Amino acid sequence: MTTTDVVTKEITFRVYRYKQGDASPHYDTFKVPCDEWTTVLVALQAIRRDNDPSLTLRHSCHHASCGTCAMIINGREELACVVTVLDLGTDVVTVEPLHNIPLISDLVVDMVPFYDVLNQADRPYVRRSEFMPEAKPPGGIDFYTRYENCIECGACVSACPIKGTSEEYYGPAALAAAWRVIEEPRGRDPKAALDWVDTPDGCWRCHVAYECTEACPSGVEPAEKIMALRRALTRQKLGRLFGRRD
Ligand code: SF4
Ligand code: SF4
Repeated sequence: MTTTDVVTKEITFRVYRYKQGDASPHYDTFKVPCDEWTTVLVALQAIRRDNDPSLTLRHSCHHASCGTCAMIINGREELACVVTVLDLGTDVVTVEPLHNIPLISDLVVDMVPFYDVLNQADRPYVRRSEFMPEAKPPGGIDFYTRYENCIECGACVSACPIKGTSEEYYGPAALAAAWRVIEEPRGRDPKAALDWVDTPDGCWRCHVAYECTEACPSGVEPAEKIMALRRALTRQKLGRLFGRRD
């Protein structure tokens, strides 16, 4: 075999299908020839192109920067753009939409509730950048950065068993964003962020299972940030108990 030979293998894709109003979602099966470079996202695009243009999926950057192609691949939250099909080591690949986020169609979920909570955690910072009238950012480009590393893909929310049982729970991404405000306020109010998480649906609801950290493709480690919030709140409460001022 020369270095230019390409090994291709036919892989079966079981793809979750749902359209608005469907009484019974189902899986459709497609066969896709995959080589060593074929990612799950590229295979799904091939299915759309060659087999079924009605397959709905979402993607943008193709290099793990935007978070829009997060989905469940063989039972795990992943970014489809960076999962190489043959590396999965199976002849059958099952692809499903994220859990715990309302489903719109096939593999596309409605991220509005995710952003609604995230914006509460990160409020003034995000909103100021969105409504800034000048084209030139007066605060520098950092002003437009949300919190480091998070690409807002929703994988952690999908993986969280508590989010699966409680819509009210803020969820790991928003709590990690709140910790970021405390860690580096940059003009935001850390006390307001701590007050926001100090509720039964905030950081105290987490059951410390760490699935969110496991699922995060971007190294945010939301579970560790939730524990940091709890420590900060505990210190604050103990300080009040013993008369210390924060
Ligand atoms: S550690 Fe907390 S937030 Fe993360 S998955 Fe578990 S319960 Fe959810
Ligand atoms: S914390 Fe990680 S998994 Fe959760 S939305 Fe951000 S990047 Fe995605």
